[in-house]
This record gives sequence, C-alpha cells and structure tokens, in this order.
Amino acid sequence: MAAVTQNTPPQAPPLFNHTPESIASVAEDLAVRAKAIIDKVVASTTVENATFENTFKPLLLQDNITDPIGGVICFYHYVSTDAALREASVKAEEKLSELGVELRMREDIFQRVNTVYQNREAAGLDPESLHIVETEHKRYSNNGLLLPAGAARERFKEIQLELNRTTIEARNNANSETGGIFFTPEELAGVPETAVNFSELEKGTGENEGKFKVGFKPDMSIPLMEHAIHPETRRDYLIAKENKLNINSPLFKKILLLRDEAARLIGYKDHAALKISEKMAKTPETVNTFLADMRVRAGAGVKNDIAQLLKHKKAEHETRGLDFDGELYLWDVNYYERIQKEKEYSVDEQAISEYFALWPTFNGMLSIFQKLFGLRFQELDEAARTKLSATGNAKDLTWHEDVNLYAVYDADSTFMGYLYLDMHPRDHKYSHYANFGIGPGSTDNSDGRHQPFTTLVCNFPKPTKEKPALLQHSDVVTLFHELGHGIHNLVSKTNYTWTHGTHVSRDFVEAPSQMLEHWCWVPHVLKELSSHWETKKPISDDLIANLIKTKNVNGSIFNLRQLVYSTFDMVIHGPESREVLEAMDIAKVWNERRADVSGIKGPESTGYGLHWGEGFNNVGHYIGAYDAGYYGYMYSEVFSADMYYTSFKADPLNSEQGRRYRHIVLERGGSRPEMDLLKEFLGREPNSNAFFQDLGLA
Ligand SMILES: [Zn+2]
Repeated sequence: MAAVTQNTPPQAPPLFNHTPESIASVAEDLAVRAKAIIDKVVASTTVENATFENTFKPLLLQDNITDPIGGVICFYHYVSTDAALREASVKAEEKLSELGVELRMREDIFQRVNTVYQNREAAGLDPESLHIVETEHKRYSNNGLLLPAGAARERFKEIQLELNRTTIEARNNANSETGGIFFTPEELAGVPETAVNFSELEKGTGENEGKFKVGFKPDMSIPLMEHAIHPETRRDYLIAKENKLNINSPLFKKILLLRDEAARLIGYKDHAALKISEKMAKTPETVNTFLADMRVRAGAGVKNDIAQLLKHKKAEHETRGLDFDGELYLWDVNYYERIQKEKEYSVDEQAISEYFALWPTFNGMLSIFQKLFGLRFQELDEAARTKLSATGNAKDLTWHEDVNLYAVYDADSTFMGYLYLDMHPRDHKYSHYANFGIGPGSTDNSDGRHQPFTTLVCNFPKPTKEKPALLQHSDVVTLFHELGHGIHNLVSKTNYTWTHGTHVSRDFVEAPSQMLEHWCWVPHVLKELSSHWETKKPISDDLIANLIKTKNVNGSIFNLRQLVYSTFDMVIHGPESREVLEAMDIAKVWNERRADVSGIKGPESTGYGLHWGEGFNNVGHYIGAYDAGYYGYMYSEVFSADMYYTSFKADPLNSEQGRRYRHIVLERGGSRPEMDLLKEFLGREPNSNAFFQDLGLA
C-alpha cells in the first residue's frame, strides 16, 4: 500500500482523563441539563401548539451534544483498570438510566409528543423526523402514558415496579447458582483430565461418598456433554442441569402474568403484541408466520443431520458392545457431534490460526472495507496523538496504553470519525467481544457535524515470546462481525444521535454484522486475508476447503434449537387469553415444544413424563430484555443472507454494491423504518430463500 500523508483530523478525539470525581460531576451536569431542557420545552410551549421544531428538536439537539459525553463516562466500567473509576462509571450509568426512566414517565412532555404525533401527517416532516415522532410516541404509550390518570394508570405503574423487583430477584438467583450433581470417577469416564481436575472438585459425603460434585458452568458442562462415554451420565447431568434454577419457576410465572396484565391494560392483546409493536416485525402474526416457515424448511434438513449422527452412534455402540436402539437422544447430540467432527471434518484449528496473525488479518479486513465502502483508515501514532490531544498528552486519548486509535476518512479524504481497538484481555475488563458505539455522530449542530467515535472491545489471545497473537477462524469471524458494527457506527450520517448508526431495532441490529460474516467463508477472501506469521505464505486451498466443509454441519439441528427457544417465547408471551396463561403449565409447554420442534427425543420419550425439567429458567433472554424477542436472531440472519446473496455472493468485493449498501442501509442508521431500507436495497420484499440456500436446503 502506498504511504499516505498524515492528515490532521478536523475534530479532536475525546479525552479519557477522567477522575472518579469528574465522572460524578459530569453525570450530575448531564442530569441537570436533561431535566432543564425538558422544563424549558414545557414552559415555552402548550399542549396545543407543540410541533416537532419547538418540542422534539430542542431535546434532540441537546442529546447531540450530551450523548457522546455520557458515552465516555459510562464506558470506563467496561475497560478501566482503576476500581474507583469503574465504580464511578457504574454509578453514572445507573443515574443516567434512572433519569431516562423518570423522564419517560413525564405526562407534560408526553402530551406535547402526542400533539406532534396526531399532526404528523400534515406537518410535512422529513423521513428522519417522522420516524422519530412515531417511534417516541410508541415508546411513551407503551409506557402507559395514554392511560387516563386514575386507577388503571396507578396499577400500570405498580406492575412496572413489581416487574422490576421480580426480574432482579430472578437474575440474582441465576447469578448466584452454584448447584451440581455428584458422580464417581468411573461415571465420568471419557471426560478429559484437562477439563476435570478431581482434586479441585468438592468431595461427596454420606450417600455421595466416593463421588465428586460437578457444577453446571460451561467449563464443565461442555466437556462433559461432549466426552462422557456413559449415556446415563450425560442424561442424568442434562436433567439435573435443566433443573438447576427451579427456584425461579414461580418468579417466571409471576413475571409472565404481570407482563400480560400490563399489556392488556394499555390495549394490547398480549405482551408479545406490545413488545413487537416497537420492532421491525411490528406484529406477532409476522413473527409467527416467519417461525412457521422456518420450522417447515429447517425441519426438512433435520432428518439428515440426525441420520449422520446416528451412523457414528451405531458404529460406537457396536465397538463397545452396547445395545443400539436406532434413536438419537438429546444427551447424545453434543457427544456424537464431537465424534463426527473428529472423524469427518478434521480441521486443524491450530494450523489454520498460524495464517491469521491478529494485526495482518485486521489490516487485511481494513483493505476489504476500503475496497467495498471506500474508507481509509489511518493509525494514529504517538506523535499524531500528542498533536491531537487537547491536553498535549497522547496518553489522555485512550483509557489504556494497549489501545490502538485510528482516524477514518472517506475516499475523498473527508474525515469520518475515530475507531478504537482494545484487543486483548486484562483484569477487570469486559470479558466478551463487542462494539460500543460510545460516541454517536450527528449532523444537525450549530458548530457543524459531530463525527462519531466507536470502540471494539475484544479478548483475543495475547502474543507470546515466540509467536504473534494468532486468530482461530472463529475469531476471524468474530472480528469481522464486531468491526461490522463499528463500520455501521462510523459511516452513519444522521441529523441526530438518536438515530445514529446501530440505533436501530433489535431485530435488525445484527443483520449488517451477520452479513459481513459471509465474507469469512469465501475462499479467495480467506486467501487474501491470510499470511503465515513465519513464512508469509497464504493459506493452502486444502485447508480452506476443509474449513468450509464444516460451515453447515448440523445446521438444521442448530436452527431447530433456535426455533424451540423462539416459539416457546411467542407461546408464553402470546396466550389466547388471561385464563389460558393463568392455567398454563409452563414446564409442560417447554418440554412439549422442545420435543415437537427440535425433532430430537428427550427424557419424555423414555418414561420421564413431560415435567422432567424446567429448563426455560436457564434461558436468560426471557426475563432479560429479549422477551418476545428471541426470534430476532433468526430474523436478522435471514435478512443478512438475503442481502449477501442478492448483492455480494457473485462478487464479494464489488465496490459498486458496497457503496450502494453503505449509502442505503448503513448510512441511514435508525432514521427510517428498517424494512424500508431493506426493500430499497434489495429492490423487492426480503425473503428467506438465501438463508436456506446457504444452509444447503434450497
Ligand atoms: Zn453483534
């Protein structure tokens, strides 16, 4: 790549030089300003004369200024090495989110929002403003504000408080779960010694004499379910694990009843209808039709997946002299998947990772984004940072010395924003992989456009003395995915932070990143990205071919499992009537769904009945914020496949398509209904054909 001259970005990056005291005072200041601007709007307007200009706009313009400041102070608790800073940051986040809840309960501002909403058709609003008005109105009314003051309104508030308390109690129970089941070493035969260190396990006493306690966390459950050779061990463990949070079952039912009551109070037929009204799918009917179609089409492939696993079960049972009844059980799936992988799809992850050293791979990704979207990335070195820093100190531009900082430019050298990379684990750092869009951009400001800044927080293995940091293929996919969210935040151009970048519906937000994952399965892209850390040679065609063979192994089993979760979610949040929900036997519904939809036999098929487990408690999404939203994973996956196959499959690096995608979908962030963006990009209604084609089922 030709050397580029170091431009100086026209806008300095934010400072990360806060103290616990300054975080607290900034949070206080933001809270005061937020209340003051609402009071000012209320004082200067009447319910009758409220317009977008005099009501929404002042609030949105203030958010344009304060959102990136709030983003910074609330970010420290994910990444700072300083306990006091983290604590101050948690408090700031709590304060600002409580304030948000409080402001959304304000009747005076809602009455004005309602007037603007009623007059929206005649007001000649631009699409972004119209979309904001409709979305905000929906959120306020779903918060009970359309209810006339009185008993119903009071009850609605009571329910919200009760829901909050119950959800916290259930979440605490889940976080403090420390159960397990006792096994003898013989019962655990097959589980690798690297996974089970008996000297570290709790020893049983009394009836458990000679046994060891095996907990339910993934570090134990994954090796056990993949390796324990006795089917009874896997079955008993599975059943115990499904019952590990039964303490939450009464809370679960209570939450469902409260949600149902609240939804009916404000005029929805059920909780699913309320929740989905704020999403891209809009109605439960759309979601249920989608899930029914998925079920038929994914179901068509599951027999073959099962047959493949049964081949391995039969062979293994013959070798070990065990009876073979021709059935694949729930506790067999992970075990035979592991054997299948070892026998048929031997992928040497280690060998592949030698070709994907972190930084060359990352730079390769940037070149792809450069070609596709016309972006240019310039890493800022110490000298550039010193020059840009408002304090004259380079150190103040990041929260940790290991963070890399890039200035991002458009093809015509227009400055686009800043990208931060915090790649490796360290103590007290957020332990997953995520993009935090902490500094959303905005165009409508008295001092011109505010450019966004966005951060990737990852935990890729560190370099060693001998080798650079190496990525497994799944890490390459993750990096592409998270960078996809980052690019969404960088190229978005909206009037307000409110609509910027990834501020889109939850059932759409993953689609752009899921689409980029497709690039990681294209042989010539992989070849281009790869470079052996020592020899600098690209990865061989054989290794690529081996890897690609594994992409859809047991895809139908996986998708049907997702469907179990999604359809159960819709059933419990969309009962036919209040009475049906009151009488609902949740455990029975859960086990029936699982057996019916997954296509795989569970304990109920061997005499355990339909109350063998209460595993719905283990899916945190239902009590978390994904209630009536689990479908979103598959829903956005379908759109991502449709976009990829329609515009990129034939030529993944087609820059004309890349720019179309950037301008139509990414740039507009959440400023239009997502379905409109999709239809404009595809030139038609989206459909699930590409999703099934990709799975080999079309
Ligand atoms: Zn994501």
